[in-house]
Amino acid sequence: MDFSFTDEQQQLRRTIREFAEVEIKPHIMEWDEASHFPQELIPQLAKLGLLGVIFPEDYGGAGLGYVEYVIAIEELSRVDGSVGIIVAAHNSLCSNHIYKFGSDEQKKKYVVPLAQGKKLGCWSLTEPEAGSDAGGTRTTATRSGDGWLLNGAKTFTTNGHYADVCVAMAVTNREKGSHGISAFVLEKGMPGFKPGKKENKLGLRASDTSEVIFSDCRVSGSQLLGDEGQGFINSLQVLDGGRISIAALGLGMAQGAFEAATQYAKQRKQFGKAISEFQATQFKLADMATEIDAARLLTYRAAWLADRGDSRLTRESSMAKLYTSEVAVRVANEALQIFGGYGFIKDYPAEKFYRDVKLCTIGEGTSEIQRLVIARQLLGKK
Ligand SMILES: Cc1cc2nc3c(=O)[nH]c(=O)nc-3n(C[C@H](O)[C@H](O)[C@H](O)COP(=O)(O)OP(=O)(O)OC[C@H]3O[C@@H](n4cnc5c(N)ncnc54)[C@H](O)[C@@H]3O)c2cc1C
Repeated sequence: MDFSFTDEQQQLRRTIREFAEVEIKPHIMEWDEASHFPQELIPQLAKLGLLGVIFPEDYGGAGLGYVEYVIAIEELSRVDGSVGIIVAAHNSLCSNHIYKFGSDEQKKKYVVPLAQGKKLGCWSLTEPEAGSDAGGTRTTATRSGDGWLLNGAKTFTTNGHYADVCVAMAVTNREKGSHGISAFVLEKGMPGFKPGKKENKLGLRASDTSEVIFSDCRVSGSQLLGDEGQGFINSLQVLDGGRISIAALGLGMAQGAFEAATQYAKQRKQFGKAISEFQATQFKLADMATEIDAARLLTYRAAWLADRGDSRLTRESSMAKLYTSEVAVRVANEALQIFGGYGFIKDYPAEKFYRDVKLCTIGEGTSEIQRLVIARQLLGKK
């Protein structure tokens, strides 16, 4: 067993850490308070290859694997989870769905500019009435000539307002249930396709979470992505990889909150000594560090399995996502506690981590749904 990162992976981590510290950190509170989507950052993320981490160079990507992808999301999220989720939704949901299930033509047309960062992607599965039960999708795509007519609305789409390319799931045959849902690729500007309400959120406020609306949106047959009726099934496979990125998002934020609390505990004096001298603080830090380490091991193991194309990925990625997101919530809570009253104040970093981490127990399947997925795998149920 080898738990060490290669020299290249360590260099990648240093590069992204420096980038995040210099280019992102000075702006995070301003972006958070204004709910400002950092579009100005997209060309820089593209230049670093972060918008095509897991795609081969032939498709405009960086030609790296999931381990490197986790390093990237972890380091971005250590500074700002909003940037982490923008990159995650673009890579492992939108672009990866097209890369895994698209035709050669679709891959050339969409994956190349997405991976190069010339275009931004989003992925729309969730609907107002179909969240955890995404098989209950109501958006429809009905045959019209040699194409399709889409009608309906998606909710909570990350990057929804800013994306140039959207992968969306719609019912093509209601009688077939989850085997009657298909995926489509939509492009910004297609008549009848537009973003709707932009959500005003508790956390990750610099990321965009929006409605996506289809009203008599007519697309040609070439916009069907993957086989007809396989969109939902393919989505579940896409989510296996996506959940690793949410684990990485939680891991990075937990690490950021932990580092901030440790630094603060060494400086803050009460009763004539640094609060880090109190065993109560030390025990908190020890528990936080141990849980983060365990979360990191689960997350990188899932990434390693993904790079090997291992069939255990569904269970292991759900475990990584479940555990890491719950650790992140606990760590952010304890970090805020260590900051005391200052943890409640926006001049200090703890409150933002506390708000931002909560998404991790909800997005790409809630903690309850992860437990269902894991239990199904354990019990051999479909
Ligand atoms: C910031 C943000 C970004 C997002 N980005 C995207 C995106 O890019 N694309 C996308 O498609 N979606 C996205 N989502 C949607 C997200 O995946 C859903 O919110 C999530 O799957 C939960 O669905 P829901 O919100 O409808 O909650 P519900 O499904 O209504 O769940 C409510 C509660 O009931 C529980 N529950 C539901 N069913 C069961 C069950 N069978 N057993 C036990 N408990 C259950 C849930 O765990 C939860 O606690 C995003 C959400 C947010 C908040």
